[in-house]
Amino acid sequence: MSIRTDKNEVNNEEHCSGFSILQPRVVKLTNRTEVDVRRTLPHKNLRMIGAWCFVDHYGPTNQVTGMTIGAHPHMGLQTVTWLFDGRIMHNDSLGTHQEINPAQLNLMTAGRGIAHSEQSLESNSTMHGVQLWIALPDESRNQTPFFEHFSELPTQDLDGLKTKVFIGQYQGLKSSARIFSELVGAEFKTSNNSTKLELDIAFEYGVLNVGESLEINGQTLAFGELAYIPTGTTSAEITSSGEKHFLLLGGKPFGEKILMWWNFIGRTHEEIVAARELWNSHDESIPDFSDDINHRIPAPELPNLRLNPR
Ligand code: MN
Repeated sequence: MSIRTDKNEVNNEEHCSGFSILQPRVVKLTNRTEVDVRRTLPHKNLRMIGAWCFVDHYGPTNQVTGMTIGAHPHMGLQTVTWLFDGRIMHNDSLGTHQEINPAQLNLMTAGRGIAHSEQSLESNSTMHGVQLWIALPDESRNQTPFFEHFSELPTQDLDGLKTKVFIGQYQGLKSSARIFSELVGAEFKTSNNSTKLELDIAFEYGVLNVGESLEINGQTLAFGELAYIPTGTTSAEITSSGEKHFLLLGGKPFGEKILMWWNFIGRTHEEIVAARELWNSHDESIPDFSDDINHRIPAPELPNLRLNPR
């Protein structure tokens, strides 16, 4: 999915120093869609969680035909498409045409540059999902792009807690999706009144609530909110009497400054300028591809200032 450019979207950030509840802000997706997206990362108080640097949550909505994101490029990151409901068609400049359904993973490793488009397909259900970005470490960010689809992922149903791991590993469940730093991305469902989530002391985490309101460590986490859990924590307690549905996103603190602009992640102003020019000039390093959308999203104007990594 592509996003409208929020110029300087993270200003005067103060990194969360302890357990915090982060509110989403509502943004409009670019181009011919009215589907609202709730963005919790980047947040004014938090830039990343491990290598996770972008968390968009959309739906549930009945606008199952409303998501149409034309061709746009990415660089220096991996995109994770994960659906709870609905169907999306992915097309990219490697020639991939892949439909994705709920509980399947589309992972696109942009490396030095790729373009893709996404379009929701007619279905009998509503549309509900997340689009997540993972920043690539410096040593792997210029690699050749590739795309992976996983229709089956490691799943466990233990004492009423359903776990599905789509990125990295959690409690012995390991996704075979290729990643380049220590991470976890997992989906949980439970109707148990109380659940203890075991955590890795070296990781920081976000718990994104995609279902009914719940409590985490005694604090209310409403639908769409993200609880930040700093490193040094061994567990979190999830409680409520209802059905609980949430994602756990975690990783070792990234340790590198990144420069995130539009759909690109780089390290220097010059790299971003070059990536923008490459896309807008139709450079052959990112080939055109065919889809049913037939629309190419140009990179916006750069702000009239020097972009700095943070
Ligand atoms: Mn995209």
